[in-house]
Amino acid sequence: MTSDKILYYSTNGNAARVSFGEALLKGLAPDNGLYMPDHIPALDKNILKSLAGKPYHEIAFVIAQNFLRGEISENSLRSIVKDAYNFEVPLQHVYDRNYIMRLDQGPTASFKDFAARMMGRLMQHFLQQQNRRMLILTATSGDTGSAIANAFYGLDNIRVVILFPENEVTPRQRKQMTTLRKNIRIISLQGKFDDCQSLVKQAFMDDSLASLSLSSANSINIGRLLPQSFYYFYAWSQLADTINGEQVIFSVPSGNFGNMMGGLLAKRMGLPVKKFIIATNENDEVPVYFQTGNYATIVPSRNCISSAMNVGHPSNMARVISLYGGAMDEKGNITRDPDIRRMHEDIFAVSISDQETTRVLKDTYLGYGVLTEPHGAAGWAGLLEYLRKFQEDIPGNQLAINLETAHPAKFPEEVRTLLGIEPELPPSMTGLDHADESFDRLENDYAQFRDYLKVRY
Ligand SMILES: *Cc1c(COP(=O)(O)O)cnc(C)c1O
Repeated sequence: MTSDKILYYSTNGNAARVSFGEALLKGLAPDNGLYMPDHIPALDKNILKSLAGKPYHEIAFVIAQNFLRGEISENSLRSIVKDAYNFEVPLQHVYDRNYIMRLDQGPTASFKDFAARMMGRLMQHFLQQQNRRMLILTATSGDTGSAIANAFYGLDNIRVVILFPENEVTPRQRKQMTTLRKNIRIISLQGKFDDCQSLVKQAFMDDSLASLSLSSANSINIGRLLPQSFYYFYAWSQLADTINGEQVIFSVPSGNFGNMMGGLLAKRMGLPVKKFIIATNENDEVPVYFQTGNYATIVPSRNCISSAMNVGHPSNMARVISLYGGAMDEKGNITRDPDIRRMHEDIFAVSISDQETTRVLKDTYLGYGVLTEPHGAAGWAGLLEYLRKFQEDIPGNQLAINLETAHPAKFPEEVRTLLGIEPELPPSMTGLDHADESFDRLENDYAQFRDYLKVRY
């Protein structure tokens, strides 16, 4: 462990290093790059061992404290993690030593709750300290928006505007956002997720909106990224008594790669990980990059059943490249090559078709009684493909953990069609189907969006 305060640099390399608090409230760096820690704290082996069997919030505290040293008091951080992580994180056994970590038990039944709840409370903490208010702009393909809306709902110093692509979120995902009101405003955009993201990015660069004190809560915010390293440690800690110096495999269904970036940070901190499998849907720009060394964005992104992963240019890709010593600009041009050999050592990237996703979803339920949904099923399919492909190199009893990123009840149509059953609603979602909604509709036009903000804030 180091006591040096960590500063955060921009992946575009043309902005000053800032504290965590500043990076958190800024969102995007002034040169439009993404903030990254300038060094990654190494976790002492004994501290890692001491995490075994600990509750989630205690593990979150230890990891967060390493990144936030000198920026927040121990007491404040302890109460933030306790308040943020007040729900279960089950590790579901599937077969042999293969598990599914269910990140779907939070208030919006999505893994994005983990990052959003922590980020909201950290932002509220720093804003209150500085007596400031802020307007959060977020683009969502479904789960981000509901997680952000719920995580920020009722926070005094924060107002929130969320854009979603009108045809790419499920009715329940929409209702998790549109039934809140108070400090939360929702926009249905006539466009795709990438269009939503583009409007948000333009607003951040627009000087005429400077007085609104804009910030982002997308996966580009460093406050979203760090909490996504906690659950990798937690998974390890829960199974620690069965782990004997062995390295774990994680499979991560991926869209914007924030989830996977959290895992890469955990590994750099010292978590013994053998491999990260990143499973994308048919938006395969990253698996293709891993195979060929050529990165090409997919515009427009392809519509797949794992809708939260319909991303043609993952916003965290610049961070992944930067972590391996390279540089990538916002457009996806690689301006300095990363250490590809090391990337391949750590990561196996695979694209999973919709057909394969549904086949695996079905098999997993019929074979093991384990109910997944399209995102988690893509991750599980990626794991199966990896185990099949490298079976000669993998010990028979290898520990592998797939992340289930959403509750099956968020995708009832797929589950109903494929399995003929009705997924049971988690308590957080009962009553939603009949609740009153409130949202605005906008065309995919930046000038309209800008005026919308100016009139209301
Ligand atoms: C957001 C999301 C993903 C993708 O996560 P990234 O961090 O963007 O890679 C996967 N599954 C679900 C259900 C999601 O909501």
